[in-house]
Amino acid sequence: ARRTKTRIFLPHLVAAMEGVEETYIMIKPDGVQRGLVGEIISRFEKKGFLLKGLKLFQCPKELAEEHYKDLKDKSFYPKLIDYITSGPVVCMAWEGVGVVASSRKLIGATNPLQAEPGTIRGDLAVQTGRNVVHGSDSPENGHREIDLWFKEGELCHWVPAQAPWLRE
Ligand code: ADP
Repeated sequence: ARRTKTRIFLPHLVAAMEGVEETYIMIKPDGVQRGLVGEIISRFEKKGFLLKGLKLFQCPKELAEEHYKDLKDKSFYPKLIDYITSGPVVCMAWEGVGVVASSRKLIGATNPLQAEPGTIRGDLAVQTGRNVVHGSDSPENGHREIDLWFKEGELCHWVPAQAPWLRE
């Protein structure tokens, strides 16, 4: 419902929308506790993606379970739910061309010891169970997770002043 409401069908606007995706990025409780919120947001901001939603949020258990439902048979699942609900997280919705795959690159490999230097996990974390940030793994999950974590009124659809300087 959110997307049909916000899409405006004018040809030049539709062309400008080509390849535009949205992704759900979340700073996990360790990132918040360690004071890495500004550092992590800054990396997405500097890259040139568009911030559409942002909130500090104490995640209820049911929401953590829904978010990670595909992992419920994994041995680490109970610890993962405890971790994600152990303190506030920062929820973000980012938009841009190719934002899903590009964000995964900015974030780095799931195991921070295997994440390349220069990535968020490569620079800021050491353990898979404390890997500071989440990013959607597909455009479909980007939509699904943004719908799951945000209410319609919490998202802003706006054009930043720098838009012409980011895309030709
Ligand atoms: P990613 O977050 O990189 O997409 P996954 O979807 O595979 O990775 O896993 C989701 C999250 O579950 C990871 O980011 C991490 O917090 C946790 N996790 C994954 N594998 C393990 C593991 N072997 N031990 C502990 N936690 C894990």
